[in-house]
Amino acid sequence: MIEAKGYAAHDAASPLVPFRFERRDPGPHDVQIEILYSGICHSDLHQIHNDWGNSVYPMVPGHEIIGRVVRVGEAVTKLKPGDHAGVGCMVDSCRTCPACLEGLEQYCENGATLTYNDRDRNGALTFGGYSDQIVVEERFVVKIPGTMDLKAAAPLLCAGITTYSPLRHWKVGPGQKVGVIGLGGLGHMGIKFAKALGAHVVMITTSPGKAEDAERLGADAVLLSRDADAMAAHAGSFDFLLNTVPVPHDLNPYLRLLKRDRTMALVGVLTGLEPPVSGAALIMGRKSVAGSAIGGMAETQEMIDFCAEHGIVSDVEIIPIQGVNGAYDRLVKNDVKYRFVIDMASLRNEPQF
Ligand code: NAP
Ligand code: ZN
Ligand code: ZN
Repeated sequence: MIEAKGYAAHDAASPLVPFRFERRDPGPHDVQIEILYSGICHSDLHQIHNDWGNSVYPMVPGHEIIGRVVRVGEAVTKLKPGDHAGVGCMVDSCRTCPACLEGLEQYCENGATLTYNDRDRNGALTFGGYSDQIVVEERFVVKIPGTMDLKAAAPLLCAGITTYSPLRHWKVGPGQKVGVIGLGGLGHMGIKFAKALGAHVVMITTSPGKAEDAERLGADAVLLSRDADAMAAHAGSFDFLLNTVPVPHDLNPYLRLLKRDRTMALVGVLTGLEPPVSGAALIMGRKSVAGSAIGGMAETQEMIDFCAEHGIVSDVEIIPIQGVNGAYDRLVKNDVKYRFVIDMASLRNEPQF
């Protein structure tokens, strides 16, 4: 076994603390990665706090992982020691169900194995990226081009693919007016991708102070969702809405923005909707509310390559692992521009190990 170090939550209420644990030795298809950077996703906070009711502790969060390959099993062909590699939200799936066969491992009918807060094939808890190394099967590792800014690439592994995939699925492109709701980690990537795909992009935000940033990130216009007159002026004009809001909220005002036959895709994992979606808001215009989860492994590699081609990375604030609990406090207060990324060098210098 490999001795690993990380930071873990031991229950839903306590801060994360240093934690030692074991990783498996790489098998023939495995890649061992020295973790260099790990992004902080709002989902980390949801799971630490047991917002979804399925949390298992100790929990080492982190599913936006960038590192350097240090060892590969003899059957590995895609990566070699020294390559830069990325790991996102999944580390395994059944590979045989219709979803896996279509390259949609995130919808595996037997349940994909999540990078943390899950159990692997042997029943062992999975531990995520807030750690010094990880061992993952080749299929669930993507190759990061040598030219990419590694620290700013980490959030692509979740925030990136989670916004890229629905924009592609609903065929966003030139001539369309697309709204991205919520300017956080996911939202800022949504703007960049929708713009690169050629759409007219409107940032729909609750925060007037983010307007300038939204435009800098590529938005053509900004719409304040709490300004009823402004919302009315945009009624019936959007071809697609990507909703990244992380908390239950009223969807009806956003549905009124859609044109007939168009879709609002949710990526925020909402645990309740208050008030409910109005039937009339959907019926009058044959509108849809849909959902989308991350993306498959082939699409994740496609997204990384798209980013390399278009010069896209995340806007990040680098923190040491010792600052992780403070970063969570700021995330809750909506104070992040626009993704925290942990520099794992700080873990190697952690005095408590
Ligand atoms: P984040 O960085 O905290 O950003 C969320 C943004 O939503 C905020 O910046 C804010 O933007 C807006 N917002 C917050 N509270 C709001 C409220 N009460 N009403 C309206 N808007 C509000 O979060 P994130 O990391 O982007 O994650 C967003 C959600 O996606 C989370 O629920 C996360 O778990 C989920 N997620 C899902 C997937 C998937 O596969 N489907 C993958 C990753 C994450 P403004 O200030 O602009 O309003
Ligand atoms: Zn995430
Ligand atoms: Zn499957």
